[in-house]
Amino acid sequence: MFLAMGADDSEIATQLMRVKERVADAARSAGRSPESVRLIAVSKRHPAAAIRAAYAAGHRTFGENYPQELAAKSVSLSDLAEISFHMVGHVQKNKAKLVAAHADCVHTLGSAGQASALASRVEARSGEVMPVLIQVNIGREANKSGVSPDDLGALIDAVVVLPQLRLTGLMAIPPVASEPEGARRYFDALAEMRVQHGGEARLPELSMGMSADLEAAVQAGATMVRVGTSIFGERPVRSPTV
Ligand SMILES: *Cc1c(COP(=O)(O)O)cnc(C)c1O
Repeated sequence: MFLAMGADDSEIATQLMRVKERVADAARSAGRSPESVRLIAVSKRHPAAAIRAAYAAGHRTFGENYPQELAAKSVSLSDLAEISFHMVGHVQKNKAKLVAAHADCVHTLGSAGQASALASRVEARSGEVMPVLIQVNIGREANKSGVSPDDLGALIDAVVVLPQLRLTGLMAIPPVASEPEGARRYFDALAEMRVQHGGEARLPELSMGMSADLEAAVQAGATMVRVGTSIFGERPVRSPTV
């Protein structure tokens, strides 16, 4: 499939609709309701105008990776009353303030230090609670962020005691695979990890699946899929000036 760089507004609307159909089809074929899977449109490095186009087509939840870009977009799009941003990129401790101010959910907690840095910044906002997911380094890759599967239990214990954060689930980015089905065993592994650490009651959300492998993720139980390229086209090399 060829997607032009910087898809125009009508292409974004069309592609968004196609991705929603893919998600709904995957849910139905897994015997799940389409509403049980939330689509996070990952807009990193695309201009704010691309988000406006998706918003105009009815989409509300967007994923961003870089704190500064998240902040700039959230300010420039503050006229869009129902927009919400999920942070799906690594949160450095010194960026926790920006993330707390502009994200509505954080998918990528990987250490107790990150959790407490974020919590202390959330506290600064009057009585709000930030929904968070723990990112698990499911393929045990040296160069990937996320907590090691062995340390997940300890990190969950450290996060649930922070009143400013509400732990809602687990997130993973599987190792690069040549086949979408290659990711499936990692999605199954994340679902199994949830079972080991309290199940759906404690960890309702599983954030997994991207453009290439969302079907396999939904089959394995994803409740949030994070899709960029299939909606917005190929990503520009650099972040926009917004
Ligand atoms: C960029 C990104 C995505 C979207 O990936 P696509 O392959 O473009 O769909 C999803 N999740 C995370 C964490 C990302 O960084």
